[in-house]
Amino acid sequence: MPPGSRTTRTRLHSARGRSTASQRWLSRQLNDPYVKAAKAAGWRSRAAFKLIELDDRFGLITPGCRVLDLGAAPGGWSQVVLRRGGPAARVVAVDLLEMEPLPGATLLRGDFEEEAVEQALRAALEGPADLVLSDMAPNTTGHAATDHLRIMALAERALDLALKVLKPGGAFVAKLFQGGAEREMLARLRRHFAAVRHAKPPASRKESAETYVVATGFRP
Ligand code: SAM
Repeated sequence: MPPGSRTTRTRLHSARGRSTASQRWLSRQLNDPYVKAAKAAGWRSRAAFKLIELDDRFGLITPGCRVLDLGAAPGGWSQVVLRRGGPAARVVAVDLLEMEPLPGATLLRGDFEEEAVEQALRAALEGPADLVLSDMAPNTTGHAATDHLRIMALAERALDLALKVLKPGGAFVAKLFQGGAEREMLARLRRHFAAVRHAKPPASRKESAETYVVATGFRP
């Protein structure tokens, strides 16, 4: 849990006194202890705590590690890798969105699925990766089955890339929506990694369907 606890709750209402979806989102942000703690610690996102919690549990970030961060904006996970991996850590991060410069990281803008972007990522890595992270999420449609399929497709393609760039013994982390990994993806993960586990870090909102798959001990 982040330091500090909330003592007051902020409530927002529309002119007609009824909360709108965006006001509910804002109210939740204002009352979220992780949002406050992220701001206090200088993390660019509350999502930083999810990687901190996954790393505390699975020991993913090692000194001087080389990491590919897929769907990295605004850069919270990349910051965590750089702080925990020490001065020799190297991060290559990609996102569809522009990111503020982050000392120690190479930031690329684009769709990681495009051939040219993949080539640029692999060139920037300058060698095999210890860890491939995917916190990517497609824009949700609100239709649970469609959202599940879309996030699974993104995770599958992140895994395709991870299998090409990881070094033996490396690790892969990807965001999924509940329903877990499809049988086919799980089978692929088990074929290529010594251990495959599902984790929902405490910083992941309970009401959110998101969960993470953590695969360690890559065997090509
Ligand atoms: N881990 C990040 C952090 O701590 O700041 C937050 C990542 S955010 C939840 C997910 C990101 O995935 C979005 O910024 C989105 O633009 C990106 N994304 C989704 N699909 C992508 C794709 N095909 N290529 C690159 N980035 C993508």
